[in-house]
Amino acid sequence: MSNLEASPDSHAAGPGTTTLATRLVPPREVPLGGPRAMTVRRTLPSRGLSTVGAWCFLDDYGPDDVGASGGMHVPPHPHTGLQTVSWLLDGAIHHRDSVGGDLVVRPGELGLMTSGAGIAHSEHTPDDAPAGLRGVQLWVALPEPARTVDARIEHHPDLPGGEQDGVRTVVIAGELAGARSPARVHSGLLGAELRLAPGARTVLPLDPDFEHGLLVLNGGLTAEGTDLAAGPLLDLGRGRRALSLSSEAGATVLLLGGEPYTDPLVMWWNFVGGSHEEVVAARADWASEDDSTGSARFGTVPGGEARLPAPALPHVRLHPRT
Ligand code: MN
Repeated sequence: MSNLEASPDSHAAGPGTTTLATRLVPPREVPLGGPRAMTVRRTLPSRGLSTVGAWCFLDDYGPDDVGASGGMHVPPHPHTGLQTVSWLLDGAIHHRDSVGGDLVVRPGELGLMTSGAGIAHSEHTPDDAPAGLRGVQLWVALPEPARTVDARIEHHPDLPGGEQDGVRTVVIAGELAGARSPARVHSGLLGAELRLAPGARTVLPLDPDFEHGLLVLNGGLTAEGTDLAAGPLLDLGRGRRALSLSSEAGATVLLLGGEPYTDPLVMWWNFVGGSHEEVVAARADWASEDDSTGSARFGTVPGGEARLPAPALPHVRLHPRT
């Protein structure tokens, strides 16, 4: 693929800045094991890159042949301190949670779960799902004031977007090129799916106060002079006012961005917190609750499935990511 960008430095942040560096963050192949027996390609968190804005977790998975694998079956499990985004290219996921959420998320639809201090949910491939499963699972860290908001689920089947220069945009979170997602987020954040038709070439406006990253889901493109295929996350850093994209054969990509996340961030298992103590307390609460007594913090997921037990804590303090 050739570099169609005429002047790669033309979108620099300002006087004195010549080039904004880009960096490829390779994915790690992570076998999820257990009930969700698939291997995912994880680019957040990565060594040297914990977050892009408040995006703190990015798993890219599939294509999975649901007929052969049985699909995704994750029993009730807890979350704290985060929002989860389910975004599919193929397939379907049936989500049920402890605050009354019961929905099937399909390609192009946003399922956004906000845990606040605690929620539990299950995820299953529905019986009538298509044969293929392909998507991404993302987490957004909740900053300190939002870490205890009421848990809630949002389903946005019709997200706004636009089309220009052969690029179709769907805004998942935040605002891009004048289109704003209705998703409720708690920090300056951007998430968008971009579909480039073969031969597409465009320049998208970005917020220079945000840091950004780009992940190819299908096909390939050239972004700011860097050829990119599925796999690695292109770390675009902070300070960009624009993003030049072109694709010869077409591509589907995920654009992430946000104001730099500055609160302490401790991630362990399914918990996000601001400290070792917060995560230890969340684990203890999950371990002490069960469906027969009812659950004060995490609640009960309908369906009667056994809960996933929390793994043992490591014998060391959990340190915030930097
Ligand atoms: Mn989950």
